[in-house]
Amino acid sequence: MRLTKVRRVLISIYRHWMFPLHSLKQLQRPSFRLVYWEKAEFPFHVVPKFAALRISGGTIKGYGCPGLSITAAAIGLAEVARVDASCSTFILVHSCLTMLTIALCGSEVHKQKYLPSLAQLTSIGCWALTEPDYGSDASALRTTATKVEGGWILEGQKRWIGNSTFADLLVILARNTTTNQINGYIVKKNAPGLTSTKIENKIGLRMVQNGDILLNKVFVPDEDRLPGVNSFKDTSKVLAVSRVMVSWQPIGLSMGVYDMCHRYLMERKQFGAPLAAFQLNQQKLVQMLGNVQAMTLVGWRLCKLYEKGTMTLGQASLAKAWISSKARETLSLGRELLGGNGTVADFLVAKAFCDLEPIYTYEGTYDINTLVTGREITGIASFKPALSAQRSRL
Ligand SMILES: Cc1cc2nc3c(=O)[nH]c(=O)nc-3n(C[C@H](O)[C@H](O)[C@H](O)COP(=O)(O)OP(=O)(O)OC[C@H]3O[C@@H](n4cnc5c(N)ncnc54)[C@H](O)[C@@H]3O)c2cc1C
Repeated sequence: MRLTKVRRVLISIYRHWMFPLHSLKQLQRPSFRLVYWEKAEFPFHVVPKFAALRISGGTIKGYGCPGLSITAAAIGLAEVARVDASCSTFILVHSCLTMLTIALCGSEVHKQKYLPSLAQLTSIGCWALTEPDYGSDASALRTTATKVEGGWILEGQKRWIGNSTFADLLVILARNTTTNQINGYIVKKNAPGLTSTKIENKIGLRMVQNGDILLNKVFVPDEDRLPGVNSFKDTSKVLAVSRVMVSWQPIGLSMGVYDMCHRYLMERKQFGAPLAAFQLNQQKLVQMLGNVQAMTLVGWRLCKLYEKGTMTLGQASLAKAWISSKARETLSLGRELLGGNGTVADFLVAKAFCDLEPIYTYEGTYDINTLVTGREITGIASFKPALSAQRSRL
């Protein structure tokens, strides 16, 4: 994929949304993306334009999907995040979780039936693992799948599921009541017993429509069970790729904020000189640039390990955790550089600052990803507290 082409198309999509280059006064005008972000609404009109980017389906080969290298797919996602993180999350959930699960764990019929329209974004997908009582501890999930004649009955709840309020197709992970293992199912929009209620008042990624899903005896025909999901471990193939992709969202956000801060410091004057003329401000800008370069190299290395077939889960988790924590430092510096204007969403730096928080938390929090890497390098799992140590000797 030629990067310049992606950026060109993105800039044409967002020509009304881009941070204006020439006048601080213009920076205060509400842009389209800010209006949707503040109203917490999804900009449906940009979906066909995203389809034109040909990044939906990312690394999947055939079935109308672009078949990109993971490096190209990740950079495409970062370029979207550079402009708007909610839009990149919409693509992440649709493409890297929903479509990839169908591609890696679905039958040939599933792939032929669902992937082409998902690739063209004429149908939208979501991916439901998390539950109200099982977030970090997702493998203990309680939604059940019970075998009945001709299919399965799903019962339970899911929480935080991106795109779920309007998705045409929902990939639901549930516990098979016979085997006690996790299985995957494709549930269609409007299936009787299925409801998704929008989660309100998020502080970040406000355009993403995250839902609380209720599955009240939802019937799924046998043909819509994903044959490749037979235990929680089977989802790790999908999570390995999606964690690589998620790592590039904070990179894109940091690049966008660096660009904005650089322009702002060159234009705004205090004490008779541009803010960029002050050494302390230059130090912050340089620290941000150094972080962006280091994050990009870690993300790049991760992609290359994946392409060689040697990437481990611990490496993907380390990259996701480290990059998102470096991005927090970078965006915090950026927010500071804009002074008071760094506290209002109008200048988009504060918006990016808020958007990073859910990214820091989803696809495994910083802590959980750290523990995944910790287990890999020590051989000791520390997810559960040592309850056996009843009394402290200290
Ligand atoms: C905006 C957004 C979008 C999302 N989209 C989706 C989606 O599309 N599909 C989906 O399935 N899920 C989605 N999620 C869910 C997300 O993956 C979970 O929020 C995440 O895994 C954390 O779970 P939790 O919120 O229940 O936090 P908890 O698990 O309750 O954790 C709370 C805190 O405790 C810490 N903690 C937990 N366990 C341990 C431990 N063993 N050791 C040390 N610290 C620990 C955590 O790191 C965290 O800081 C989304 C979440 C958000 C916020």
